[in-house]
Amino acid sequence: MADFTKVKENLEKRGFDVTCFATREEAADYLAGRLAGRTVGHGGSVTLQELGLLDKLAGRATVVSHWNGHTHAEAAAAPVYLSSVNGLAETGEIINIDGTCNRVASTVFGHEEVYFVVGRNKLAPDYEGALWRARNIASPKNAQRLKRKTPCAAKGDKCYDCNSPERICRALVVLWEKPNGVGRCEVVLVDQDLGY
Ligand code: SF4
Repeated sequence: MADFTKVKENLEKRGFDVTCFATREEAADYLAGRLAGRTVGHGGSVTLQELGLLDKLAGRATVVSHWNGHTHAEAAAAPVYLSSVNGLAETGEIINIDGTCNRVASTVFGHEEVYFVVGRNKLAPDYEGALWRARNIASPKNAQRLKRKTPCAAKGDKCYDCNSPERICRALVVLWEKPNGVGRCEVVLVDQDLGY
């Protein structure tokens, strides 16, 4: 398994709980057990899909998301929130970029528990690397997935810092420490590639 020692230590110093798993199946089983009986919101996540967690939660937890026909506000009202990240620095900073911003808002306020599921592909050595990754890898791939008319989606190689009406990058949120507005924040590290 990859050595998550450094990132785990740095996240814990910043107030996050951290768990590490070799495979997505192990991580999904762990989370399905923890979240059984809870009401869980999410803002849409390729990582959660690839993890297989949403299937495992069906019938065990109440999952609230626009993917299930709920509003973003209903997902934001759930006591537990699930998200991935666009970049995670081994120094401990968690980075997300959002367009509607329901997702980033829910990672910093208003929940009893927030879980960040992070595949090894999201890691970068430091803050600058994680920010570069979020802007130049995660966002263009998300723009392509959402079929946006943006230069990054057309070319697929980097961020062009566009001013397109369909720009998906409208807010950048960096968690330096566990937000005071969240009861408990856990980072679930998985030694497999997940999402973008
Ligand atoms: S700012 Fe524009 S070009 Fe850059 S990643 Fe976001 S949508 Fe793409």
